[in-house]
Amino acid sequence: MSTASTALVQRAPTTLWGWGANKRVDCFVDQPQTPAQVGRSLAQPPGNAGSVARGLGRSYGDAATNERGQVLDLSTLDRYLGFDPATGTLECEAGTSLAQIIADFGPRGFFPAITPGTKYVTVGGCIANDVHGKAHHTQGSFCECVESMTVLLASGEVVRASRDERADLFWANFGGMGLLGVILTARLRLRPITTTYFRQRAIKVNDLDAMLAALEEYDHEPYSVAWIDPFATGARLGRGVLTVGDHAEPGDLPPALARDPLQLSGGPKLTVPFEAPEIVLNKLSIRMLNVVLETVLGRGKPIAHYEKFFYPLDAIGEWWRGYGRRGFTQWQFVIPLEDGPARMRQILEAIAVGGQLPFLNVLKKMGPASEGILSFPFEGYTFAIDFPVRDGLPELLAELDRMVLDAGGRIYLGKDSYLAPDTFRAMYPQVERWLEIKAKYDPEGVFRSDLGRRLGLS
Ligand SMILES: Cc1cc2nc3c(=O)[nH]c(=O)nc-3n(C[C@H](O)[C@H](O)[C@H](O)COP(=O)(O)OP(=O)(O)OC[C@H]3O[C@@H](n4cnc5c(N)ncnc54)[C@H](O)[C@@H]3O)c2cc1C
Repeated sequence: MSTASTALVQRAPTTLWGWGANKRVDCFVDQPQTPAQVGRSLAQPPGNAGSVARGLGRSYGDAATNERGQVLDLSTLDRYLGFDPATGTLECEAGTSLAQIIADFGPRGFFPAITPGTKYVTVGGCIANDVHGKAHHTQGSFCECVESMTVLLASGEVVRASRDERADLFWANFGGMGLLGVILTARLRLRPITTTYFRQRAIKVNDLDAMLAALEEYDHEPYSVAWIDPFATGARLGRGVLTVGDHAEPGDLPPALARDPLQLSGGPKLTVPFEAPEIVLNKLSIRMLNVVLETVLGRGKPIAHYEKFFYPLDAIGEWWRGYGRRGFTQWQFVIPLEDGPARMRQILEAIAVGGQLPFLNVLKKMGPASEGILSFPFEGYTFAIDFPVRDGLPELLAELDRMVLDAGGRIYLGKDSYLAPDTFRAMYPQVERWLEIKAKYDPEGVFRSDLGRRLGLS
């Protein structure tokens, strides 16, 4: 937890990027250390391109950058304000990371109730993207664990928002991409746990129909996620490995683990030291990496620590550098269940023959949508895949975006760098309602970001 009390205000521009490192822009970064300092920084923005909050920069695209404008780095706003062990309710500042919550509350038998695939995210960032995890089909998205939040508005006023108080502001913040105000604090419900381990099963599947059938068959399992071979075509299209699991009880653990059932682990064991030259990335190397991945996933042990179960990528620090100087993007969509298998097949075929280098991917079934006005998830199939940036990628993504739109689906803004504004509007039918709420709470359009300008949200 940070204890510093003085502001560290930098007025020289700093080059910033999202996790995909595919667009690097100069921004004026302030790092306020207290909520009062956030207010003072916001009142004196350097540049004239507005302000946006930033957490740990794990959004892949341009959500937390603001070219020539102010970026409020809130990652040191990480104090706990209260905890009730009877209910697991934690009140904390919005820059608190899930990694910090796990480190401090894991040993006391509590875990974040909803978590994405990295723990290096802040509570504010999780709200702004209404993040989802492996359990979306059974537990919903991040809003399910948030009781209330306090928000610094453009006017300088700090207000509370919850399901009962300023409900419009509350729900517009889920998927609101930091464009309504700065979330200063939040009250969250943590999940009681008896171990930090998971029971898991890996199921190897030979084609897409079998994979979607397996997702259906194991729908009752609290956590499920699949990886598919992005190079498999024809009859083998969609082959891959489905992993399902649930929290382990102490009695599930072998004696060596049962001695310390709430064990934590340290930070990344390995860090990519510099940006890989592009030559490293070719079709053969990516294909081989995918084969290795399939082998490793297929041999998953029956008991997995939360680090391996939830956060396998956190084991390698700064892994985005491995994709080279031009960076990469993650493209994630959700499409409705109805007609989903046929649409999914068309999209996967277009990726397989698209001439790009598809890599890490995740396929899963999502549950019902939340009330978050611009929240991404709804009931259907979601698929996320990494592409290193190479010539022709934006054109392929535009074609894929159109296929998703035709299927009645949408793209996840937390990962996106390339979506066109008209396609975005067609995908998110509640955008007009959200813009009305934006006009109510930020009438001068103080909160702006590169993503906001690109998509017409700011
Ligand atoms: C390895 C990896 C795996 C991931 N897996 C998943 C996954 O499984 N599911 C999923 O949903 N996402 C996933 N993500 C994406 C990630 O969870 C989200 O992008 C998350 O929002 C990042 O949080 P952050 O603190 O880094 O926020 P940033 O990326 O810094 O900011 C994200 C957005 O939040 C806003 N914001 C941040 N703090 C505040 C605040 N205090 N007040 C107002 N707005 C704020 C920013 O303006 C921006 O719009 C993954 C990312 C990585 C790198």
